This record gives sequence, structure tokens and C-alpha cells, in this order.
Amino acid sequence: MKNGLYVIATPIGNLGDISARARETLENADVIACEDTRVTKKLFSLLNISTKKTFITLHDHNEEEQAAKLADLILLERKSVAQVSDAGSPLISDPGYKLIKHCRKEGIYVTVIPGCCALICALQLSGLPTNRFLFAGFIPNKDKARKDNFEDLKNIKATLVFYETANRIVKTLTVAGEVFGGREMAVAREITKMYEECVNGTAEELIKHFEEKEPKGEMVLMIAPAEEKQNDEVDVTALLRKKLAEMPLKTAVKEIVGEYKLNKNDVYEQALRIKNEQ
Ligand code: SAM
Repeated sequence: MKNGLYVIATPIGNLGDISARARETLENADVIACEDTRVTKKLFSLLNISTKKTFITLHDHNEEEQAAKLADLILLERKSVAQVSDAGSPLISDPGYKLIKHCRKEGIYVTVIPGCCALICALQLSGLPTNRFLFAGFIPNKDKARKDNFEDLKNIKATLVFYETANRIVKTLTVAGEVFGGREMAVAREITKMYEECVNGTAEELIKHFEEKEPKGEMVLMIAPAEEKQNDEVDVTALLRKKLAEMPLKTAVKEIVGEYKLNKNDVYEQALRIKNEQ
């Protein structure tokens, strides 16, 4: 096997989802770089892959030093290194980015062996538009940060995808309801496992669902894209009057231009006129 770095996806629930290429590469690699050696050794045992090889940890807190160490193993000792995360695709809300950056800079052979990725599986289940989506990772846990995060993403015309945990989902949906109103959402959970489900509805409907059925397992929250607003339907004067009462002129103009894709100079002139009248 050629020396280099092999970035390998592992199953997110169903072991049958390991690809033939992933299995072969994991069997033949000299070194396994993983988040938690116990988790990965357990996976190897379940997949009947020998654990008689070197396992090296690579996680958020040691990635920089480990990247240099792994690169040396590849370059100086001609080793093949397979990188995996606990489950799913490495680098997607998981470590690996710094390692790949380091290896690429050193001219090391880097390749990917694709497979399960929770966000892609969730989108495929959801029935929400997939032509344009934005993956925003884990939702912040603090109240203000969570709300600010949603506010930042509110006007994006793409399906929004987040990783979330069962114990926070109801709180998150409550805030999502405040920010996104009645927009369609979906929660896909336990994908590829026995209790896989994907429920769609407004935030209110989803909260009701999880009040009746306790949220459990791993989950992905998705929110339908912001509606395309027709410029000719927009009453710019009314919007400006409302926003000018709440915020500085420049901010009001920026928000309206951004949201409705209007001409900045036209909106600015109109805002000045209203301000002068007041
Ligand atoms: N890198 C992995 C991936 O993209 O496939 C994700 C790792 S991230 C640390 C873990 C999060 O992914 C979970 O908290 C959950 O939001 C999501 N996830 C992982 N497995 C899942 C599954 N089987 N069903 C639903 N969501 C899952």
C-alpha cells in the first residue's frame, strides 16, 4: 500500500455500511489515526479487522502536534496512515482539517475513501430542497449564541443543516420557532439504526412530537430555505419606516438590501428622504 494519508468514512450506525475499499484500507494501513482508540478498536473488532497495528489519537486538543508526528511517519518511515473518526466522515464536525492541511503542505499523498456522512443522509431523508444547502455544524449551547447563530442564517436561501443532541432539541426548536416562524423543519434521528426516523413540521409541531415521544439518539436538524421574496411585492417605504424606528439608517438599508436584493443606492436615497421628513 502506497505511503500516504487515507481519510476514511466509517458507518454511523449500521456496520453493513462500511465500504469494501474502506475495509481493505483499514486492514492494510500501518497506522490508524483516530479520535478515541477504544471506540475505533471496538469498531475494528465488530468488523473483524485485526487491531494488531499502531493506533494514534488525533483529536481537537492534540491535532497540531499529532499532524507533524503523522506526517513524519508517512514521509520518513514510508508508513500508510488511515484516519477515521468515531463514526461517519472525518473532518465534518470532527478532527482532521489541520492534519490534511499539514500533509498537503508537505506534498504527502492524500486520498479519501468516502462513505456515510450524517448530514448528507439526513438531507436525503428530509424531503427538503437539496440543490442548495448550508451545513452549520453544531448549534451553540448558550442561549444568546444560539439565537444569534439562527439570526445570522435566517435570510439564507438554502436548506440549513445542523448537528444537535437529543437533550437540547426541544430548547433549540423553541428558539428556532421564534427566529424562523412557521418555516418547515425536519429532524432526522438514529439514521441507519433500528429506530431511524425523520419527522417534518413547523418548530411547534416538532416540539409537540418530542413532547409525546421523548427525543433520543443522534440527530440532525434541518430548516427549509428562506422564501424568495419578489421585489415588486416589497413595500420598501413601510419596511424602512419600521426599521428606521429600530436601528441606525445604515443598518436598516443594509438589512433591506440584503434581504430583498434591492439596489443599495435607491434604498439609501429613500431612507434619507424618510429620515429628513421625520
Ligand atoms: N463526522 C460525522 C459525520 O458527519 O458523519 C459526524 C460527527 S459529529 C461529532 C456527531 C453528530 O453527527 C451527532 O451529534 C449527530 O448530530 C450527527 N449524527 C451522527 N450519527 C448520526 C445518526 N446515525 N443519525 C443522526 N445523526 C447522526
